[in-house]
Amino acid sequence: MSIKQTDQTYVASTYARADLVLVKGKGSLAWDENGKEYIDLGTGIGVNAFGYCDDEWIKAVSEQAGLLQHASNLYYTSPCARLAQVLCERTGMKKVFFANSGAEANECAIKVARKWGAQTKGENCYKIITIKNSFHGRTLATLSATGQDKFHELFNPLVDGFLHVSANDCEQLEKLVKENDVCAVMLETVQGEGGVNVLDVEFVQKISTLAKQENFLVMIDEVQTGNGRCGALYSYMDFGIMPDVVTTAKGLGGGLPIGACLMGEKVQSVLTAGTHGSTFGGNPVACAGALSIIERLTDDFLAQVKKKSELVFNKLSGAKGIESVSGKGLMIGIKTKRNVMEVLSECREKGVICLTAKDKIRLLPPLNIPFELLEKALSTIVEVCAK
Ligand SMILES: *Cc1c(COP(=O)(O)O)cnc(C)c1O
Repeated sequence: MSIKQTDQTYVASTYARADLVLVKGKGSLAWDENGKEYIDLGTGIGVNAFGYCDDEWIKAVSEQAGLLQHASNLYYTSPCARLAQVLCERTGMKKVFFANSGAEANECAIKVARKWGAQTKGENCYKIITIKNSFHGRTLATLSATGQDKFHELFNPLVDGFLHVSANDCEQLEKLVKENDVCAVMLETVQGEGGVNVLDVEFVQKISTLAKQENFLVMIDEVQTGNGRCGALYSYMDFGIMPDVVTTAKGLGGGLPIGACLMGEKVQSVLTAGTHGSTFGGNPVACAGALSIIERLTDDFLAQVKKKSELVFNKLSGAKGIESVSGKGLMIGIKTKRNVMEVLSECREKGVICLTAKDKIRLLPPLNIPFELLEKALSTIVEVCAK
C-alpha cells in the first residue's frame, strides 16, 4: 500500500488531506516523496514559525531531549520555569499555565473565567461572550465557544454558558453584557479559521472599556495570531488594550505541541493547586523549543515581519483576479475571483504551498522567510489568480 492508502485505511477520516506526502523540509522549503520542491507558505498552519528544521531550534530541542525529555509536573524543570518567565516579562502577564495545544490553552482560560466569576461575582456569573465566526478549538468547551454553527452540528448538548456576538457590533455587545451575568469576553483579534478577518480597533477597545465598567475579563485567543505572526509579539499589543488572559499555541513551540494560558494581575491567583493540570504540559523539550523561538522575536526581527507584510500587501492588492487582501503581519487572507481549491492546487503544482480559510487563500509563511523566496512565491500566486 502507498502511504496515502495506508493513511486512508487506518487514520480516522477527520481530515480532507491534499494529495501530497511531505518527507522533509529545511527553512521555507519542503520536499515531497517524489523529490519535488515547494516553498511552504503554510508552515503546518502557522506552527513552524521559523520554517522547517531551523538550526537553532534543532539545537535547543535535541540538547534538551538528550538531557531530560520529560519529568511530569510533580517536579521543577528549568525550560518550563524560564519560558514562563520570558512570556511574563515580555507581556506583563503574571502567571502561565502550560498545555499541549490551542484548544487546551483555551480550556484553561474558560476554567479561569468561570472560577474567577464564581469567586468574585457569584456562582451564576459564568457566561462567556465570544464572536460569531470565531474558532477556539475542538474540545467540547472550546467547540461551544466557537461561534460557527457548522462545527456544532450533531455534537449537542454543547457546554452551557456561551453567547455569541457579531464581530464589530458594539451595540449588540453592550446589550448582551447588560442582560447577562458575564464573566468574560473571548476573542481573536484576527479571526483565522473564520477567514482572516481583522476586528475593528474600536470594537476591541469597546470590549476593554466595557470590561472595566462591568467587571468582566478580556481573554485574547492568540493561538494563531501570537508569537510574532501578526507583526507584534502578541497581536493585542497593536490594539491598545491590556487583556486579563492571553492564550497561545501554534507558532509558540516552533513545531512541537505546546499551548500556554497567560494570566494577568486580576486572575493570577485563580488557579490553585489541584484546580487544573496536565501530564505533558510544560514538557521540557517543547519548552526548550519555544524558548529558542520567543528569544528571537526581538523588536528588530518583528520589524522585518512587518516589512514582509508590506511586500505581501503591495504585491497582491489590486492584482488581476485578486478581489481583496486582509490580515495583519504574515497572517494573510486573499479573496480570489477563481475558486480557492483550484488556486490552492494549481499553486501546489507550481511549487507553492498555501492554506485556505473559508473562501479565501490563507498565507502563514515562516516569519524568517527570505524576501526573495517570498517574492518568488507571491509571483506564482499572482500568476495563478490572474488566469
Ligand atoms: C488553531 C486554533 C485553535 C485550536 O488549536 P489546536 O492546537 O488545534 O487545539 C484555537 N484557536 C485559534 C484561534 C486557532 O487558530
